[in-house]
Amino acid sequence: MRIAVSGCGITGTAVAYFLAASGHEVVVFEQSRICGPVGAGLLLQPSGQAVLQEMGLLSDLEAKSQRLEGMQAIRRVGTNLWKSLVRLQYQWLEPNCYALGVHRGTLFELLLEACLEAGAKVITNARVESVIAVNAAAGNGKIRVQFSKDHPDEPFGEFDFLIAADGSKSLLRQSCQIQSKSIEYDYAALWATGPCDFQSNELFQVVDGTQRLVGLLPIGDGKTSYFWGFRASEYEKLTGVDFAEWRKDAIQFCPESESLLSRFENWEQFTFARYRHVSLKIPYTENVIFLGDAAHATSPHLGQGVNLGLEDAICFAKEVDKLENFPKACRSFFYNRKRKLRYYQQLTRLLSPFFQSDGRLKGVLRDVFLPWLPRLPVVRREMLRTLCGTKNGWFA
Ligand SMILES: Cc1cc2nc3c(=O)[nH]c(=O)nc-3n(C[C@H](O)[C@H](O)[C@H](O)COP(=O)(O)OP(=O)(O)OC[C@H]3O[C@@H](n4cnc5c(N)ncnc54)[C@H](O)[C@@H]3O)c2cc1C
Repeated sequence: MRIAVSGCGITGTAVAYFLAASGHEVVVFEQSRICGPVGAGLLLQPSGQAVLQEMGLLSDLEAKSQRLEGMQAIRRVGTNLWKSLVRLQYQWLEPNCYALGVHRGTLFELLLEACLEAGAKVITNARVESVIAVNAAAGNGKIRVQFSKDHPDEPFGEFDFLIAADGSKSLLRQSCQIQSKSIEYDYAALWATGPCDFQSNELFQVVDGTQRLVGLLPIGDGKTSYFWGFRASEYEKLTGVDFAEWRKDAIQFCPESESLLSRFENWEQFTFARYRHVSLKIPYTENVIFLGDAAHATSPHLGQGVNLGLEDAICFAKEVDKLENFPKACRSFFYNRKRKLRYYQQLTRLLSPFFQSDGRLKGVLRDVFLPWLPRLPVVRREMLRTLCGTKNGWFA
């Protein structure tokens, strides 16, 4: 089949790889001028690692990332006083279970190379706006891709279907008139990556109520991704503050970040990311399917977005191979994925306010109950399975 993919991100490159490797003709359209290794650190969970293993990329990625044995969060209870909030170790679930701390750019470069080697074509500076059915009256099922006006009108021909992997702000959701819910959270984070003397084999987070959330995610090669959570609407106010003043305060709050933050001089060196929640009632139309963040973006508090996108890619490609029919592949994909996707979306929406919100009570409840939860073996197991990305629904 001739397949178009909109968006050359993690999901887009992965699905292009699987389909091209099965012999389909795949063209990926990317709105940016260059497909570069942008982004910050992320957690690749065992679920995402399984997909990379299937692509033959896992050992290469492991060599370029940091093996993480778990995560811990501590909370501030006074000047220079801290208490453990939660600590989880992957090996409590399975002896050889761990996450990988990796820079998004490192993962992206590997995926892009694999998808090009498999034979997929990547066209940059091509912002997909909509699709139109070719000869709809004759019902031949083919489509053409339409781009924003500034894109040179090249003849890319007809496609059998399009995969929308164009991220949480997907334009195609609107043009395909798909029933969707998209909520922009008032919470966001500033990210910076650099060498850090504090080296841990865990994701390390510091919280103070639900107003402050700071994290250090080791990503290999002595580097760490630092994030500072805050209210998105206070971006102007925050970046209006003298950088050196803020840094002093940030180091006092999380002394482990001192060596990393000392290398930064201004706000421009930080990346701003706002969180969004997206859910689609049915993630496909007659000739377009939505995968990855375009279909189910969540806030990053459970660290699952990339992993779910990678799984979408392999699951959908397998359905196409098995059924050789787009509508049937979509239905089967949706049937098999919906419980898992619903679980992670609902849980993330439920838990995010306990980490970033205006609700003081939520912070208190979290501080009282969260330290106790992992002490109950059944709850600990469910928490770990959730973190690993291996839950397949609320009760599966
Ligand atoms: C602060 C933050 C921290 C995160 N941490 C983690 C983590 O630790 N672990 C984890 O698993 N996930 C994490 N995530 C989530 C993760 O980044 C996303 O889930 C993941 O990047 C989604 O991949 P995607 O390919 O679906 O979308 P994207 O990465 O958004 O890629 C979409 C691509 O489509 C392109 N595009 C957009 N519109 C068009 C168009 N109209 N035409 C053509 N191209 C287009 C974009 O330029 C982009 O290249 C985090 C997210 C944020 C914001």
